[in-house]
Amino acid sequence: MSGPGNLAQPLPPLLPGTLGHAGQPCTLGVLGGGQLGRMFVQAAQRLGYACAVLEPESHSPAALACPQHIQTDYADPQGLAQLAQRCDAITTEFENVPAEALHWLAQQRPVAPSAAAVALAQDRIAEKAHFSACAPLSGVGPAPYAVIETEADLHAVPVTLLPGILKTARLGYDGKGQQRVHTPAELQAAWQQLGQVPCVLERLLTLQEELSVLVARGRDGQMVHYPPQRNLHRDGILALTQACPGRLAAGLAERAVAASRLIAAQLGYVGVLCIEFFVIDDGSAEGALVLNEMAPRPHNSGHYTLDACDVSQFDLQVRTLAGLPLVAPRQHSPALMLNLLGELWFDAQGQPRSPDWAAVLALPGAHLHLYGKHEARPGRKMGHLTLTGPTPEQVHATARAAAAILGIAPWP
Ligand code: ATP
Ligand code: MG
Repeated sequence: MSGPGNLAQPLPPLLPGTLGHAGQPCTLGVLGGGQLGRMFVQAAQRLGYACAVLEPESHSPAALACPQHIQTDYADPQGLAQLAQRCDAITTEFENVPAEALHWLAQQRPVAPSAAAVALAQDRIAEKAHFSACAPLSGVGPAPYAVIETEADLHAVPVTLLPGILKTARLGYDGKGQQRVHTPAELQAAWQQLGQVPCVLERLLTLQEELSVLVARGRDGQMVHYPPQRNLHRDGILALTQACPGRLAAGLAERAVAASRLIAAQLGYVGVLCIEFFVIDDGSAEGALVLNEMAPRPHNSGHYTLDACDVSQFDLQVRTLAGLPLVAPRQHSPALMLNLLGELWFDAQGQPRSPDWAAVLALPGAHLHLYGKHEARPGRKMGHLTLTGPTPEQVHATARAAAAILGIAPWP
């Protein structure tokens, strides 16, 4: 299947330290100024590229790290024209950037991932349809679901999908735009509350655990991946990621990797892609895999690769965009990543406080990443902390110590 986003045309690599099309140092651009953009910029700069960020906010994590900030809306024609003018290739750091903006940019410069791949990931209905289409080959399908776009769809929902989670087709993240429903009446009320926008209703599954797999695919179809990592969510937000290869049943890990690679290949995907899985109990020793969703970019669950691998997910994003060789990443340490959410900046009485970074940094193998956000709000991703060490046991012990210092609730 030749899918959307197939950028198979040969393009010469954009080598760092050379001059780009504008006679300026070769420049990589990113749409979006969040933390993912910041870490992309930092990886690109390390290799010697210049960077430009298009972001409407005046203060953003990526723009703080990048001297070239184009401050316009993502769909602003002048801003996009400036980005295309300054950059030799362009990527995006979040999936809700208008796909038309990527489409327009792609007519001027190499863009990865493609507008079509991003559009697919922006829409849970299209995304699940792709997963279902891949299922006969990948052996993994999405959770049982129904599309709800009209009143008639709502009334046709089979009761076997209840209890379920109603999710808006577009613009959901960190568990936003989702409601759990138990009865047809609750489903109806939830759809009203969500504004009767197109939604999917998924059956609520009992999760044994959650995994994600990161793959990177080049324009020539070459693909590399990281082993699956295990994710713990709290209130719909990623709380921690454990990256201790060998701790996961080998068969399960192999199946998750094979399905992820297949999904990327079927899309003709170019760039870094994250696929999220559920593991559910099907009576087998390993459990069964279910596809949750995909992110057309580096992912929060891959942040540990900055400190625990010889090539990070952001390095691979740079390489796929610039057409540089992809090398299989090697993880040199077991790792555990803790998300640092805004609530850690408040004490039990709700008074602002500063987390005790000195105590955290006194722990061996602690790698602190703060994103430069000024205002802490509960649930806001302010930074992350990765713990590395010689053994998974040591990593867990240090992570527990860090969590106790910071006030992060312990995990099982
Ligand atoms: P993000 O994009 O930040 O990963 P999101 O808002 O797109 O999140 P999902 O990944 O769909 O949301 O869901 C968030 C979390 O809610 C999941 O990681 C999982 O813990 C839980 N969840 C989602 N769907 C189901 C389901 N069908 N059954 C059980 N739990 C679910
Ligand atoms: Mg998710």
